[in-house]
Amino acid sequence: MSDLQLPAASLRLRIDGDALAQNWRFLDRHSGDAQAGAAVKADAYGLGVANVVPHLLDAGARQFFLAHWSEVPALLDLVDGPAINVLHGVRNADEAAYALATGVTPVINSLEQAAIWNAAGGGRCHVMIDTGINRLGIAREQVGDPAIQALDIDIAMSHLASADEMSGQNAAQLEHFLSCVPTLGARKLSLANSAGIMLGSEYHFDVTRPGISLYGGVVAPAMEGRITQVAFPEAAVLQVRDLTPGESVGYNAKWTADRPVRAATVSLGYADGFLRALGPEVALQHGENSLQILGKVSMDMVVVDVTGTQVQENDFLEVPFDIVSISRKTGMSQYELLTVIGHRFDRN
Ligand SMILES: *Cc1c(COP(=O)(O)O)cnc(C)c1O
Repeated sequence: MSDLQLPAASLRLRIDGDALAQNWRFLDRHSGDAQAGAAVKADAYGLGVANVVPHLLDAGARQFFLAHWSEVPALLDLVDGPAINVLHGVRNADEAAYALATGVTPVINSLEQAAIWNAAGGGRCHVMIDTGINRLGIAREQVGDPAIQALDIDIAMSHLASADEMSGQNAAQLEHFLSCVPTLGARKLSLANSAGIMLGSEYHFDVTRPGISLYGGVVAPAMEGRITQVAFPEAAVLQVRDLTPGESVGYNAKWTADRPVRAATVSLGYADGFLRALGPEVALQHGENSLQILGKVSMDMVVVDVTGTQVQENDFLEVPFDIVSISRKTGMSQYELLTVIGHRFDRN
């Protein structure tokens, strides 16, 4: 059975490789003298590492950031270990051994992690300093600790909490970061995520770590119209039926026809990231036609109004996925909208 070809899925996610490459180049250019890397954790924010990374390599990205060790194998198929950096660091000897065997660089986040890395024989690593997000990283008081001083630190980094806002926290974190740097003796420094890049050259240092804006996220006014959509989902129609007035659609009969309606059942549900929280005002699209959602979104299906259109079984409908406007409309973050895209899409 293993050589049996799987038929094409009823869901497809088209990745616009040119838009992705252009977004990376925009962020690299705005990083000034710093090299832009790429955050590709969470399967490249839901878009699929295998579909995203080749375009980023072509554009010029050379450093890739993951969160978990479980994410490493998919990326190792595409780049060498030393191009990969794992943000969650080494939690135990197994993770340290895996890092050493693959050549992947851990980001050390605590004295405990430093001790684990040193005990494993360690070598080149990065260090995260927590400068105020209070999430992950060593504190200022710990930079002089013998366990940290024993590390061979390539990049000393920190992470901004409010880079997408005009917040005093940005300058405070920058100052906090700079105060830790002399003690660490790192070869390179890194602070900015996507939004941080747009805060200006003081935030750039040697390496920047954009994520969301590679994938079309607009997180600063200057990105408006320059950072463009990368992910375009489409879903197939499974069935078309005619409804008479009084008939209802879906769980709990939340929608009832008050006129004759032609309804299409689409192979897309909340398990695919098409969340109920998107609300009834989000419609699907068939060419020029906007197709209203009828009733509740199910796990694997949603029903849309195709009255007066040419939509038929097996047609693919476009799922509007301008994450900037959907985020504004629904209150879901652009990050959430991307990372909940499900595993049932054919990605290409
Ligand atoms: C996710 C992440 C990034 C990327 O942030 P974006 O806001 O998506 O650009 C950069 N650095 C760290 C430490 C991260 O966890």
